[in-house]
This record gives sequence, C-alpha cells and structure tokens, in this order.
Amino acid sequence: MAATGCTYGTANIMKPYYRQKKGIFEAKRCESCGELTFAGKLRLATGGKLVCIPCSGYGA
Ligand SMILES: [Zn+2]
Repeated sequence: MAATGCTYGTANIMKPYYRQKKGIFEAKRCESCGELTFAGKLRLATGGKLVCIPCSGYGA
C-alpha cells in the first residue's frame, strides 16, 4: 500500500505518537494485586514494593 500524496490518514498521526510515548508510559504490574499500571502511577510502598494507587492506600 503506497499511499504517496495521502498523508492525512490516522495512521500517520498515531504512529509517531505511539513511538514517542513508549518508554515514558511504561506499564508495570502492581506487586500487590497484579494490576497493570503505568510507571508514573505506581507508588513505592513499605518494603520497596511498587504498587498501584489503590493498593498504596492513596485515593482509594
Ligand atoms: Zn494494586
């Protein structure tokens, strides 16, 4: 599919966006409940465990 001249497709917008954000929004599993959570949302609980916000007792 050579779409030369057609650069307004959604694929053109989504591809670079996905690549840019990969790394930044790395998801990890909560070590308490196993919920897949973005690294930026994980909290360090007592004992050095990375847990999701509900498991950390914050904003539950
Ligand atoms: Zn959790």
